[in-house]
Amino acid sequence: MQRSCLVLFSGGLDSILACKVLQEQGIDVIGIKFITPFFSYQLRDEQEAQRYREQVLQKYGIRLEIADITEEYLKMVTRPSHGYGRYLNPCIDCKILMVKKAISLMESYGASFIATGEVLGQRPMSQRRDTLRIIERDSGAEGLLLRPLSAQSLKETIPETQGVVDRLRLPAITGRSRKEQIRLAERFGIKDYPAPAGGCVLADPILSKRFRRVFERWPDFTAKECVLAQTGRHFLLPGGSWLVVGRNKAENAVLEGLLEKGDVVLKARECAGPLCILRRMGAREDVKLSAAICARYAKKKELPITIGVARVMGQEETVEVMEIPADEEIQGMMF
Ligand code: SF4
Repeated sequence: MQRSCLVLFSGGLDSILACKVLQEQGIDVIGIKFITPFFSYQLRDEQEAQRYREQVLQKYGIRLEIADITEEYLKMVTRPSHGYGRYLNPCIDCKILMVKKAISLMESYGASFIATGEVLGQRPMSQRRDTLRIIERDSGAEGLLLRPLSAQSLKETIPETQGVVDRLRLPAITGRSRKEQIRLAERFGIKDYPAPAGGCVLADPILSKRFRRVFERWPDFTAKECVLAQTGRHFLLPGGSWLVVGRNKAENAVLEGLLEKGDVVLKARECAGPLCILRRMGAREDVKLSAAICARYAKKKELPITIGVARVMGQEETVEVMEIPADEEIQGMMF
C-alpha cells in the first residue's frame, strides 16, 4: 500500500527537495503551504492559490494544499516561548506551530508522518540539533517528524524504523553550504527555484521594527493591520492615532482595499497626492495634523492645499492646510 506524508512546503529549494527524495521512494507526498499576513498571504485569494498550486504541480510534480493559520499565528507572534531571531522572526515557535498544525491535519489527508526541508546546521538558531529536537518535542510530533535532507545525520524516526522510508537512500546533508542541494536539484532536473531566505516580513529589518511598535501599542491588532503595516509611510501622531500614507498609485489602491469602518480617509482635492488612512483615532487634533501631512506629500507646492477628509461611508469635509510642519517634525513621527 502506498503511504502518504505531509511535507511543510515553503516554496524554497529545501522543501522542494524534501518532497522529491520522498516521492523517489514511492511515498505519496502532499505539500502543505501555510499562510499568514507575514508570508504568502497573497494565496488567500482563491485564484492566486489555484495558479500557485498549478505552477508547483507543473514545475515540480508536487501536489499542494494551502492552509491559513493566521488566527493561531497572531496569538503566538507577540510572545513566542522560544523568543525571536535577529529581528521579529519567531522561527522556533513558528515551526512548532506549523508542525503541530500539520500533525492535526494528518488524518484528513491519510498521512502517516510529517516531513520538512530543514537541514541540520544550516541556520544558526532554528536548525541546530537541539532546536530540531525542541521543535519535534513541543509540536507533539515525537517520532513522526522526518527531515529527509539530513535523515542520516539525525535520530531514526517511526517511518524509517517501520521501513516506510529507506533511511539509507536519504541524504545526509548538514551545514550551511548549498552544494549538496544544488547537486540534488540537478539530479531531479529542477532548474527554476527561488533564492534562499526572503518572503517572511518578520525577518525584515525595517518592517520588523514597525511590527514591534504595532504589537506593543495596539495589542488587539488585527490580521488586516499586519497587512496595512506593510504598505506606505507610517506615523504615530501625538494624539495616539496611526496615520498611513500611500507612496504611489499602487499603494493607494492597496490602502483603499484595507479601509475599515471607523477609519478616516484623507486625500488632496485639487491635485494628485496620496491616499491617507487615519486608523485607531486618538485625539481629534490628529485629523488636522494628518491633513497637513497629507498635503506635504501632495503634488502641489503652493499653500493653501485643500484636503478632503471623510469617515468611511461618511460625508466628506474639507480642511484648508495653510502650514506644513517641518520635515524633521514629520520624520520624528514616522515608525
Ligand atoms: S523566517 Fe518567518 S516563516 Fe520562516 S521560520 Fe522564521 S518566522 Fe517562520
